[in-house]
Amino acid sequence: MISVIKKFILSKLFGRKYYRTGKCNACGKCCTQIYVKHFRHVLCDEKEFEKLKYLHRFYTYLKVIGKDDTGLIFECTNLDKTTGKCKIHKKRPGICRRYPQEELFSMGGALSDNCGYKMEPIISFSDVLKKQRKKSLKTLFFN
Ligand code: SF4
Ligand code: SF4
Repeated sequence: MISVIKKFILSKLFGRKYYRTGKCNACGKCCTQIYVKHFRHVLCDEKEFEKLKYLHRFYTYLKVIGKDDTGLIFECTNLDKTTGKCKIHKKRPGICRRYPQEELFSMGGALSDNCGYKMEPIISFSDVLKKQRKKSLKTLFFN
């Protein structure tokens, strides 16, 4: 269970709506079928992607394996397809260490079925409902 302090820091200071639980079981699924979001848009253009390679070494690891309605689909060349493990695990970029983050959902992505992590809402649905009910009662009472 997430502590009240952690909840406060994540939601009020970092504007987060979810927190991560569980742990990685090294299935390697998140190293393939990747979308890349740059600023506010998901990459759809290979020429734009080529330019990004100069910005961060992570981009140099990626290769295009397809495209769909969301954007270009990438796979990391550091993924060992036989073992499903990262070939540069100890030196992997920060973005891989921090995975998964809630931005994944805003891009239309999802955790793979057997991912060992879960993203839990910081404020549960029932808490939101309780708050809304209290608000409606107050409005009725004071009007
Ligand atoms: S660098 Fe390693 S952990 Fe990061 S996407 Fe590539 S294979 Fe996965
Ligand atoms: S999909 Fe989840 S469990 Fe599999 S390697 Fe990625 S983070 Fe780990």
